[in-house]
Amino acid sequence: MLKLILIALSFFFGLLSIRKVRSYDVHEAEPFWKMAAVTVWGGMVSVVISLFLYNILHSQGVSVQDGVPFSYFFVGFIEEFGKLLALFLCWPIIKNEMDEPTDGPIYIACVALGFSLIENYFYAAATPLSSPLIAIRLVICTPMHVAFSMIMGLAFYWAVKFEGGWGILLGAFLAAGIYHALYNIFVSYWYLLPGVYLVLRGAYRWMHQLLGYTTAQSPYRITLADFISGFPSPEVQPGVQCLDCGDAAPKPTYEKGQIRLHQCEACGAYVCSVKTLHQLIHHYGSVFGNLKKEIGFKAGRPKKLAAKLKGVRLNKKRKIVSFNLKTFNNALEELNRDVIRRTEKKWWCLWRCQP
Ligand SMILES: [Zn+2]
Repeated sequence: MLKLILIALSFFFGLLSIRKVRSYDVHEAEPFWKMAAVTVWGGMVSVVISLFLYNILHSQGVSVQDGVPFSYFFVGFIEEFGKLLALFLCWPIIKNEMDEPTDGPIYIACVALGFSLIENYFYAAATPLSSPLIAIRLVICTPMHVAFSMIMGLAFYWAVKFEGGWGILLGAFLAAGIYHALYNIFVSYWYLLPGVYLVLRGAYRWMHQLLGYTTAQSPYRITLADFISGFPSPEVQPGVQCLDCGDAAPKPTYEKGQIRLHQCEACGAYVCSVKTLHQLIHHYGSVFGNLKKEIGFKAGRPKKLAAKLKGVRLNKKRKIVSFNLKTFNNALEELNRDVIRRTEKKWWCLWRCQP
């Protein structure tokens, strides 16, 4: 019973990670049914491949089990290889969807979710819940599987998209394998648990930065100014008072998904809710994470991100903001360039030499 609860918890955390990954896919959302198909098919295939490789290893006299220290090293590489190969075998499902860098990470995250669910089920069935370590492992391993594979998903995108990306894919596989192996070693001994915390934190940050980068590089990404000029005759909606000049006349409104912007015709400023402001920063600045916390214009001491949002004025009480389009547009473009620049400085950014 406890095991079932743990597996359900793991599934829940896995779904949360997929939701998180998908929240970066703002420019061209992937169809839900394809993600579900890759989760089921990719998950099954990756488990079969991994079992096959375990068998080969076993026939060579290497046994992978608790208490055999170095065996964990193989686990990382075998399972990452299983997920990567499974992604290739999902090609018929995803070949028409591979049109922006975020797609690779998204679909490998689905493979990882499927893989982890099946593995968890068999692992829980075969292993007695003899220690809290096993319980911890059951719960956190799904988000971990998702996070470790991210880099391979991006490398996969480059490899299928550009010739000569195969070396990068190999590098990404090695990086994912080493990370996974480290996790396996840390999670196997209670006195190494602080290491798990570090790996968790590292993997989360890694995923966050990598996905911000893929969003910033999307070919579907346009600027905020282009988005607005894409409405030749915007609908005029009543009910919004300008933050700058107080004008209460009905205003031209620009709407797409969760974005809802109004233009004040009296003073030229744009007005939107704080929620829309967050969406604008995701879409055009490629900055994600807890924006509520990061923007927080606290009395006279703007946070780091707030200081970069040039041209934006906030009314905390009414929860609306106004901005000057040109200044804010430039600030968002600068944020986007910043995301790319910062990521390309990282050692794991293997594809910086790519077009
Ligand atoms: Zn105004």
